[in-house]
Amino acid sequence: MSGGGGAADLLARHRAVLPSWLTLNYEQPIEIAAGKGCRVIDGEGNEYLDFFAGILTNMLGYGVPEVTEAIAAQADTGVLHTSTLYLIRSQVELAERIAELSGIPDAKVFFTSSGTEANEAALLLTTSARRSNQVLALRNSYHGRSYAAMGVTGNRGWSPSSFSPVDVSYVMNGYRYRSPFGHLSDADYCRAAADDLRDVLLTTTSGDVACMIAEPVQGVGGFVVPPTGFFRALKDVLDEHGIPFVSDEVQTGWGRTGDTFWGISAHGVVPDAMTFAKGLGNGLSIGGVVARADLMDGLTANSISTFGGNPLSTRGALATLDYLLHHDLQANARAVGRRLLDGLREIARTVPLVGEVRGAGLMIGIELVEPGTRVPDPAAAARAMEETRRRGLLIGKGGLHGNVLRVAPPLTLGADEADEGLDILRAALLAATDPTA
Ligand code: PLP
Repeated sequence: MSGGGGAADLLARHRAVLPSWLTLNYEQPIEIAAGKGCRVIDGEGNEYLDFFAGILTNMLGYGVPEVTEAIAAQADTGVLHTSTLYLIRSQVELAERIAELSGIPDAKVFFTSSGTEANEAALLLTTSARRSNQVLALRNSYHGRSYAAMGVTGNRGWSPSSFSPVDVSYVMNGYRYRSPFGHLSDADYCRAAADDLRDVLLTTTSGDVACMIAEPVQGVGGFVVPPTGFFRALKDVLDEHGIPFVSDEVQTGWGRTGDTFWGISAHGVVPDAMTFAKGLGNGLSIGGVVARADLMDGLTANSISTFGGNPLSTRGALATLDYLLHHDLQANARAVGRRLLDGLREIARTVPLVGEVRGAGLMIGIELVEPGTRVPDPAAAARAMEETRRRGLLIGKGGLHGNVLRVAPPLTLGADEADEGLDILRAALLAATDPTA
């Protein structure tokens, strides 16, 4: 069976043949049929401003000629794929670019098709190098949907981690709004987190830990921005014990956080490995891990990747990276992100539903609570999602309690589009405040 039918029909067919655990946005999910710039059109002709960039994937927006032409040129050669059994020029070029951009001395790159596989690879490299399956992760983390990646995901809603292959210990994250350390100054918060890490190492591990993996800004966890210096403090403890640090940059890489190209650089930390995916191919499925050569080459088992680093995705990724750097989109993320953050904080002053607005560059979380408290209000977040959609704006939702609206537009977002989105968010939040109105 194929073709025809509207979104309702497609949803019925989706439910019949796809897993029940695949999350869909909105009471009446939409099919995105076309896109240009920061706007998309659904299968029924409705237009939306996309403030979630697909799922932080379309970092340049939609229909960027430089990227589509690069993909078409590769397709015209007739070679979409060859596998790592052969030399692939664009794969080598992309690896050279990423190794240099990473700031990791003597770095090497392994390409995958997703962020999950990238984390899987990083866990494999570090657990093999250190001959230990003990891993440290942050509470409220998300690292993907595979066996080991779920095993280091510290969020019950996304991880049945009781049967993980990884022996994971969770340490305190930088979620100031919901942390017992929340009242402390930045410096004291960082010290307390470092002490907590020392305590976890002594009490819940045997000491020979393979690595720590962490997102510089927790994504699925609700765009949680830790205090400045948080990861510097943790890394110093890890260094005392010789434990490698893996920065999961799947959401935070490529300048999205505005001030720095990689999220972790904001803390003055050069990690031992970084994982990346999402935005790199502007929608093509590409991910990978960039790591110190000794970690990367430490794996002695043979390996191939059938699809990782294929000519189509690496050509698309090179074009995406060129565009990103040429147009200095990191600077745009910083400027437009600041405009959105300020605008949302202004809105929060008049909407008691908003407990906190936080963000870095174009990753902004709006945490909704029962007015006058910090009690999470996931129902209000669900209402706000519907209200934004009704007004022509797509956003995301997340957080440990499902009560955080997530704003992460393409890095090309203009100031006018930011203001348009702010107007919709203001109206939607007001409408979501009163469910009976
Ligand atoms: N790591 C982080 C921080 C993510 O946000 C995600 C996906 O949302 C992943 C890993 C998994 O990436 P993918 O969905 O491409 O497998």
